[in-house]
Amino acid sequence: MDRFNQYVEANADRFVGELISLARQPSIAAQGIGLRETAEMVRARLERLGATARLIEVEGGAPVVFGELGDRGPTLMIYNHYDVQPPEPLHLWTTPAFEPAIRDGKLYARGVADNKGNTMARLQAVEAWLATQGDLPVRLRWVVEGEEEVGSVHLESFVEANEGLLRGADGCLWEAGSRDVAERPMLTCGLKGIMYVELRVRGASRDLHSSTATIVPNPAWRLVWALSTLKDEHDRITIDGYLDHVAPPPSEAVAVAEQIPFDEAALKQSYGIDQFINGVTGREAVYKNLFMPTCTICGLDSGYTGEGSKTVLPSQAMAKVDLRLVPNLLPDLALRLLREHLDRRGFTDIEIIDRGGEPPARSPVDSKVALAARRAAEIVYNQPPVVYPNMSGSGPQYYLCDHLGIPAVSSGCGYSGSNVHAPDENIRLADYFDHIRFMGELIRAFGA
Ligand SMILES: [Zn+2]
Repeated sequence: MDRFNQYVEANADRFVGELISLARQPSIAAQGIGLRETAEMVRARLERLGATARLIEVEGGAPVVFGELGDRGPTLMIYNHYDVQPPEPLHLWTTPAFEPAIRDGKLYARGVADNKGNTMARLQAVEAWLATQGDLPVRLRWVVEGEEEVGSVHLESFVEANEGLLRGADGCLWEAGSRDVAERPMLTCGLKGIMYVELRVRGASRDLHSSTATIVPNPAWRLVWALSTLKDEHDRITIDGYLDHVAPPPSEAVAVAEQIPFDEAALKQSYGIDQFINGVTGREAVYKNLFMPTCTICGLDSGYTGEGSKTVLPSQAMAKVDLRLVPNLLPDLALRLLREHLDRRGFTDIEIIDRGGEPPARSPVDSKVALAARRAAEIVYNQPPVVYPNMSGSGPQYYLCDHLGIPAVSSGCGYSGSNVHAPDENIRLADYFDHIRFMGELIRAFGA
C-alpha cells in the first residue's frame, strides 16, 4: 500500500479542499436547508470516481444518494449522511460554521466530524485505490442519506421501497467513529435503540389560584405519581414487563466489552460526581452502560418556574422521557408496555405522544467486515482498536443492516475534542488522512 499512501500524500491539499467545499455547503436537515444541493455534490463526487450514482427520492423527505462501483468480490455497503446539525448558537463559533477554517492542524466547520469528513475520506480512498491498485477487489455500494440528524425519519420506508437494491451486501461500514481520550481507535458494531415520548396531563381548563388545590386536581401531581411508577429509588425500571424483554448479550459481546478500557476516576471527575448510580463500579458499570436499557426523564414542565413565587394551580403538566433500548426491546413494544403499565394503574388520562423511535442494532463482533476493520485499524494506527459491541447511543443501523441481515462496523476520523453537534466542530487533519488509509486497508482486507 506504499503507492496508495504516496498518492494520498501527493493529493493531500486537493483532498482537504474537496472536504472544505462540501463543508461550506450548508445541509441542515432540521431546517430543510441545502439538502438537495448537498446530495447533488455527493452524487457528482461519486460519478467522478466512475461510480453509477443517482438520487433516490423519498416521499416527503430528503433524497438518498445511492452509488455503486466494482464488479467482483464481496459487497461492502457504505453508509454515511450528508446532513448536519443546526449551527446555533452562532456566537460560540470562533469562525463561522459554514466558512471552514484550518487552525493548528484542525479543520473547523459544521459537519466535518459528523459526517462529511468520513463521507469524503472514503470516496477519496477509493480514488487512491483505483489510481494505484487497479480494479477494486470489492463491490462498493453507497447509501448516503440526508435526514440522520433528525432521526432518519424516512430511512425505514426507503429500505422498504428499495430492498432489491440493498439486499445481499456482505458487510456495511457504518458512518462514524473516533479515537478515544487515550488516542486509541474505536470500532463499534451496534447501537442502542430509542423510544422518545412526551407524557401530557391536563387538569382544569385554565391555570387557577392555588387556593383551589383543595378541590381541583393538579396535573403536576398526577404526572409525578405516574413517573414515580416507572422507576424505583434503586434505579430499577419498573415498567411492567420491560426488563423481561432484555436479551442477555452474546458471550462474544461480553468478551470484547471485557477489553474496553474504563478510566472510572477521570469520567467521574469530568462529570463532577463522586459515584455512579448505586455505587456501580468497574466492569459492572461498563456492562450496564452497554447492555442495559434506560428510562430517563429528559425534561419536566408545569406551572410557574420563573423567579420568585407565584401561587398557581397549573392546568397542564408535561414530561419528556426517553427509553434507550437493547435487543429485543423494540420501540413499538416499549411504547405498548408503557401505555399498558400506566392504564393498569389508572393513569388512562395521561396522553403519550410518540416522538419517534429507532430499534436497537447489534452485529457480531467477529463478522467478516468487523474483522477486516480490526486488521485495517491495526495497520493504520499501529495498535489494536478498542471494539465496542454497541454504543450506548442510538442510530438507524437496524433498518439498513439488522433488518437486511447485513453485519456492520463503524469507524471514523473524529477524536475526543471534535465537538460533535456543538460549536467549533472540528477534526484533526491527521485523523482525516488516517481514515482515508483505513478505508484503503479495509478494501484490501475485506476483498482478500
Ligand atoms: Zn450527528
